[in-house]
Amino acid sequence: MAGLYLHIPFCKQACHYCNFHFATSLQQKPELLEVMHLELVGRAPDWQHESIETIYFGGGTPSLLDPPELGSLLQTIRQQYALAPHAEITLEANPDDMHEEKILGWKELGINRLSLGIQSFAQDDLTWMNRAHDADQAKQAIKQAIKHFSNLTADLIYGTPGLTDAQWIQNIQTLIDLGIPHISAYALTVEPKTPLEKQIRLKQKHETNPDQQARQFLILVDTLTQAGFEHYEISNFAKPGFRSRHNSSYWKGVAYLGIGPSAHSYQPPVRSWQVANNRQYIEQIRNQIWIHESETLTWAQQLNESVMIALRTMEGLSRTLIPPAVQEKWKPLIQRYETAGWLVMEADRIRLTNAGKLQADGIAAALFVEEGDQIN
Ligand code: SF4
Repeated sequence: MAGLYLHIPFCKQACHYCNFHFATSLQQKPELLEVMHLELVGRAPDWQHESIETIYFGGGTPSLLDPPELGSLLQTIRQQYALAPHAEITLEANPDDMHEEKILGWKELGINRLSLGIQSFAQDDLTWMNRAHDADQAKQAIKQAIKHFSNLTADLIYGTPGLTDAQWIQNIQTLIDLGIPHISAYALTVEPKTPLEKQIRLKQKHETNPDQQARQFLILVDTLTQAGFEHYEISNFAKPGFRSRHNSSYWKGVAYLGIGPSAHSYQPPVRSWQVANNRQYIEQIRNQIWIHESETLTWAQQLNESVMIALRTMEGLSRTLIPPAVQEKWKPLIQRYETAGWLVMEADRIRLTNAGKLQADGIAAALFVEEGDQIN
């Protein structure tokens, strides 16, 4: 059982907050797609024993590809890999690329889930982010997509400096009213080397406000849970039956193969990745260098990742995964966090409360183990 991720590294324009790998020129697109086919073929022998349960076209902006280009990648996947009969096949799509013919084309290819990069319905907010679409396009794209796809998700961003609580509620409510069954919502983070970081440094834009972000997270959780969504991961909300199978398998530690520049793969305990540079990626794959770099995770690194990921999920962290010596070491911290109302200790699990989810990274980091803790 495994997932397959394909990174399509092209975008129309650079959103100012984004630190993913992408190019805004499409010049290299034909060459890069040709090489992604080579990578799919070249790496297939290592994945023959795996049933591919989910495929995810991410990026970048995969909806910039024409349906025949996507279809050709899917054909290579079907020829080279054991694709499960009811595999989830997700395509990330931006509103400005979406029209009826294209949406129908995606459906005919067997794509059965769309992930829409909406981010906001407030025009000032979209302009502030430098998104390529406007508020009206965002609504129209959802209305068109929902005619042909029942399984779709939309991304939102909160905590942008100009976004009022009223606008935030309106953004969430608009998605609820449009009938979207899955929503991913992220607090704006200022990543190094992004245009946003530079603009803040030059005082052209305001910094983010942690209090506003915390407030808007709690608004998000309240509004969506009241509307019947499960808050199944810190940033993810689904109506029953609509959880992302692809992302859920990441959180369960399932193996995945990543194809394309900057894509990561994981075959426990080895993680590997491709170079985040289109030209170098093309050259390496042409020279049959199938992996740019890799690392073998130690026992402690694997456990720490599991702790960090599991604490973000609705199911929480299973205590059966944690050696008794580690649980003993954690006792004072766990008591402190319980008293603070940040987590709940159950017979077999540790779960974060909503207040705890605001501190998730810090709590996970405090619980990290070291190699010597394995002895029990
Ligand atoms: S469209 Fe997506 S990947 Fe491209 S710059 Fe914007 S946020 Fe980043």
